[in-house]
Amino acid sequence: MNKMKKRIYVDHAATTQLFPEALEAMLPYLKNKYGNPSTLYSFAREPHKAVEESRKKIAEIIGADENCIYFTSGGTESDNWALKSIAFQYLGKRKRIITSSIEHHAILNTCKFLEKLGFEIVYLPVKHDGTVSVKELSKAINTETILISIMMANNEIGTIQNIFELAQEAHKYKIIFHTDAVQAIGHIPVNIKELGVDMLSASAHKFGGPKGIGFLYVSNRIKLNPYIDGGGQEKGMRSGTENVASIVGMKRALEISIDKIDDKMEYLSNLSKHFVNDIKNVGLSFIINGSNNRIPGSISISFKDVEGEMLLHRLDLKGICVSTGSACNSKNTELSHVLKAIDINRDYAFGTIRITLGLENTLDDIKYIVKTIKEILSSKCNSIC
Ligand code: PLP
Repeated sequence: MNKMKKRIYVDHAATTQLFPEALEAMLPYLKNKYGNPSTLYSFAREPHKAVEESRKKIAEIIGADENCIYFTSGGTESDNWALKSIAFQYLGKRKRIITSSIEHHAILNTCKFLEKLGFEIVYLPVKHDGTVSVKELSKAINTETILISIMMANNEIGTIQNIFELAQEAHKYKIIFHTDAVQAIGHIPVNIKELGVDMLSASAHKFGGPKGIGFLYVSNRIKLNPYIDGGGQEKGMRSGTENVASIVGMKRALEISIDKIDDKMEYLSNLSKHFVNDIKNVGLSFIINGSNNRIPGSISISFKDVEGEMLLHRLDLKGICVSTGSACNSKNTELSHVLKAIDINRDYAFGTIRITLGLENTLDDIKYIVKTIKEILSSKCNSIC
């Protein structure tokens, strides 16, 4: 009988496994409690209650008012809605939107679309560690600026931005501030009041919830345009029968994620430190990308004169799942926009892999990954053999 290949999943920024507790919470709404929450008979009461209780709990966790949470199909939709909703209020007026050059494509491609409609988009440069400077933001703001969108944590290099300072700068000029917090929520504390943002995007599958569900936070002060027209769900803003089971699963996953979050962050930071220390002892030439203030467990590492894609496939053959460049376009061998933006040393750039650890990973996993990288990079064979 074939021995099962060991799998070590270290690509948690791409997606995470559904927490068993989240699945348990979802099952009744997939089996017996299937009533449409918008209908009037008593059978619909429980699903309706589940949706509203989930909204309340999620709001409470992020320090927001429950009226400000809108359920969406995930991070991409939340980002699209946030940007288009504000922009469409100024159609034909050539207003300015400011974002950063390292955003996820959910933001960048929405900006490209808005550019075609006549909006002026400013893509702020970032420092070598991936941070956006308040000074650069301040320079880019003009009287035509209607919206600023800067991600809270980067999906490739893990860099966490100083969102509070950036949002303050926006508010000095009464400009709306949105943050894509998809990689942050459930991994580091996220509190709307402390961040001072007007809009925030989240996605459940990045924190142990199901795929295809997320939410957009929108402050009561902001005028929001409906995103999907239809039967008037989500206060007429996002029509379509609610994805009850997934909403409940997302809420449960978020509760679990933030429970003892400090201990979890420490555990993942320690695992990262072990990885970096162990890899130092291997004698390979490498650099670690991103700022010191990174999402715990997020490691973007670039090896000198190595082909990252070759390394990814060779690790895959050994049962290790990592990414090169961005998770969402990992088939692309071109240097990612993020690595370009941080002006990475070209001798190292193409040898970049992203390891994003999760709580199920152990020190043994780290040792196995380091040992495997060492074997691959010291072997003569540079193709998938
Ligand atoms: N924003 C960021 C920063 C992401 O990392 C991702 C997914 O990788 C998204 C948005 C898109 O989220 P979703 O997969 O829920 O559409």
